[in-house]
Amino acid sequence: MRYISTRGSAPVLEFEDVVLTGLARDGGLYVPESWPRWQRHDFAALKAKSYSEIAYAVIAPFVGDAVPADDLREMIEATYADFGHPDVTPLRQLGDNQWLLELFHGPTLAFKDLALQLLGRLFDYFLKRCGGTLTIVGATSGDTGSAAIEACRGREMLQIFMLHPEGRVSNVQRRQMTTVSESNVHNIAVAGTFDDCQALVKAMFDDTEFRDSHHLGAVNSINWARVMAQVVYYVAAGLQVGAPERGISFAVPTGNFGDVFAGFVAREMGFPIDRLYVGTNRNDILARFFDSGEYRSGSVTPTISPSMDIQVSSNFERLLFELCGRDGDEVSRLMNDQKTNGGFAVTADQLSNAQKIFAAQSVSEIETQATIKAEWERAGEFIDPHTAVGIAAGRACHGDSASPLVYLGTADAAKFSDAVENATGSRPKLPDRLNDLFQREERFDTLPNDLTAVEAHIAKRSNA
Ligand SMILES: *Cc1c(COP(=O)(O)O)cnc(C)c1O
Repeated sequence: MRYISTRGSAPVLEFEDVVLTGLARDGGLYVPESWPRWQRHDFAALKAKSYSEIAYAVIAPFVGDAVPADDLREMIEATYADFGHPDVTPLRQLGDNQWLLELFHGPTLAFKDLALQLLGRLFDYFLKRCGGTLTIVGATSGDTGSAAIEACRGREMLQIFMLHPEGRVSNVQRRQMTTVSESNVHNIAVAGTFDDCQALVKAMFDDTEFRDSHHLGAVNSINWARVMAQVVYYVAAGLQVGAPERGISFAVPTGNFGDVFAGFVAREMGFPIDRLYVGTNRNDILARFFDSGEYRSGSVTPTISPSMDIQVSSNFERLLFELCGRDGDEVSRLMNDQKTNGGFAVTADQLSNAQKIFAAQSVSEIETQATIKAEWERAGEFIDPHTAVGIAAGRACHGDSASPLVYLGTADAAKFSDAVENATGSRPKLPDRLNDLFQREERFDTLPNDLTAVEAHIAKRSNA
């Protein structure tokens, strides 16, 4: 499989280089040159297969011949072998034709483990094979950081530098990153917001000299392999609730648009997805876009779903590329408008094409809390604030449609125990293996929101 950039002018790459490169050199994101197209019976043949078997089938066409079949199969088996639930991503019924897809049984209790545990292994495999090194730089609003660090800790060929907004991630999230003791793990608290952290990472990638001399690699969902690995659970869940014979809808709490874009990819492959519901918190750039066709960032407001406190949604560019008929020049022009004028609008046709698939809803803090409380009272189960945003948005968008609806459960409620306790009056407990999280020693550096300072810090510690 070959990969092209959404901005049309970066070199065409094979899967291995796409994984190691992260961001395309023209500032765009890599996408497959064409989408694999499956028939209904190709999906039907995966019914009753294990998660790893489904993962192998879905992922293999995107990897192409970059990894021999047996190696890929083994890597995928190993990735999901020690998730905390035998089904890897179990479904729990919430009502008539409504299910919660629990994506938080990985080592750091958020859905990001499903992709990052595989990405860590892909890095390891490719770097050992080519004898290279990598300096991973990433920005996190909380969950990416711990999942990426967990996936990369102790891997000799790489150093990982993770930027988080100082004071804006939960205590559990911060400690999951800063208490990891391996020497290839470097945490940086930036005096700024998540968007500032993300902008710093982007600027480091744009600094070609820095990028090349330190072999920068990416773990954010700009890395195609993450989106690819997330396609799997749409298929696995859909098959359990009636696909491919019936169309399924999914509700997805969204920040960087990576998770919900994976649903779009499943649909492009031919999987029968009716609608994709995009849930945002008060940081509603995506909800505004799907309403009006205008993509314009506002200022970031902190919420109880911090992993979605984002006003520049990096993966949205992959959808924009499709809406523009895969015209990289057009995407380039629009993204430049975004940079210089703070936003752009798509045409009425492009908007109506997007609305055929997507609907979006911004969910207030009060609604989020009420959703957490209602599920606690109904079923005695905790849901985390991000998941609650997706559920509230999904309910609003789906209306009284009788078609099956799957809500993506993106984090274990214990990661956000303060918010959940505020909503329910009870406090969710961390799993036993994280019992001593608050006793472990923390390690991180605090830096100003300044590119030169951050680059100097990384240059001193990277071994590339
Ligand atoms: C990262 C994250 C999201 C948002 O996912 P995107 O791929 O950025 O849209 C939602 N919920 C949780 C718990 C997360 O960690």
